Amino acid sequence: MLNERLADKLRREVANIDVTADEPMSAHTTFKIGGPADLFCLPSTADALRELLLWARAEGQPVFALGGGSNLLVRDGGVRGVVVSTARLSRIERIEDTWLEAECGVPLAKLASFARDCSLSGLEFAQGIPGSVGGGVYMNAGAYGGSLEQSVRETDALSADGGAVTVRGGEHAFGYRKSCFADGGTVLRTRIELSHGDRDEIAAQMDDYRERRRSTQPLEYPSAGSAFKRPPGLFAGKLIQDSGLKGARVGGAQVSEKHAGFIINTGGATASDVLGLIEKIQIEVFRQFGVMLESEIRVIGEDE
Ligand SMILES: Cc1cc2nc3c(=O)[nH]c(=O)nc-3n(C[C@H](O)[C@H](O)[C@H](O)COP(=O)(O)OP(=O)(O)OC[C@H]3O[C@@H](n4cnc5c(N)ncnc54)[C@H](O)[C@@H]3O)c2cc1C
Repeated sequence: MLNERLADKLRREVANIDVTADEPMSAHTTFKIGGPADLFCLPSTADALRELLLWARAEGQPVFALGGGSNLLVRDGGVRGVVVSTARLSRIERIEDTWLEAECGVPLAKLASFARDCSLSGLEFAQGIPGSVGGGVYMNAGAYGGSLEQSVRETDALSADGGAVTVRGGEHAFGYRKSCFADGGTVLRTRIELSHGDRDEIAAQMDDYRERRRSTQPLEYPSAGSAFKRPPGLFAGKLIQDSGLKGARVGGAQVSEKHAGFIINTGGATASDVLGLIEKIQIEVFRQFGVMLESEIRVIGEDE
């Protein structure tokens, strides 16, 4: 009821945003897990997103930026404050010969296909990553030796007080699955530089990566991708498999039989199940190999 009243206030005061109160986050994460967000907001323009940040600040509401929800575990008690989905900020443009500009809500796969259709090479790796441009820049998404840091040149972002900033080159502070945006800021749009390539070769490379994913990853189950970061010189999946944990379960969460680096939701898994399984894996791998695995999945929200 309180959230409904707050939603009404937001609807009256900021234009071009769809607002829902008490929206289940399980509907917006690839894990299909997560309790309700107090306010779930879908701005249709960058200006509306900026206005929303200012409104939330004035109301004392924390804001969480949601992309594809593909690297997230939302706890069962849900998220207090505002979850802002970037899904409608989805413009892509070729701004110069080898340069593209994409808004934060563009799916990475769509950007990769756009690049292929322009015969531009450099995003083949991104075709099978189920996240958005904003989440991809935040995470420095990568696969098969490629990552966004290789092509991202400039990013327009908003600070918590709605101020506009442009981050350039090394200021992105890209590292393994991280960037400067871990310290704050909402990615609005990014500009990437690619190289000329042959459309058929780019397409063939994408097909090859797609087939590799299909044959090795449990894409038929909800998950958030690799559950753990790669420890230096090692593979998390192999350590988990060698610990005898393939198929291990806590409630509805299971270590995938197909790829031990993935935790899957076999149906009705809660966030507590997943967190329990993460802990079980960490303890067992540390006991057997002395390696403490670090979760790659971002965990947000409150327990029930
Ligand atoms: C089947 C599967 C396979 C995967 N394979 C890979 C892979 O090969 N390589 C890889 O790197 N990842 C992989 N992932 C994980 C995931 O797709 C990536 O981490 C992706 O970059 C997350 O993007 P997202 O938009 O879904 O972000 P979300 O999960 O929505 O959010 C992740 C983080 O990014 C932040 N964020 C999102 N949008 C913005 C924004 N506009 N501004 C600021 N912060 C923002 C969020 O606040 C959050 O902290 C896989 C996931 C799945 C389910």
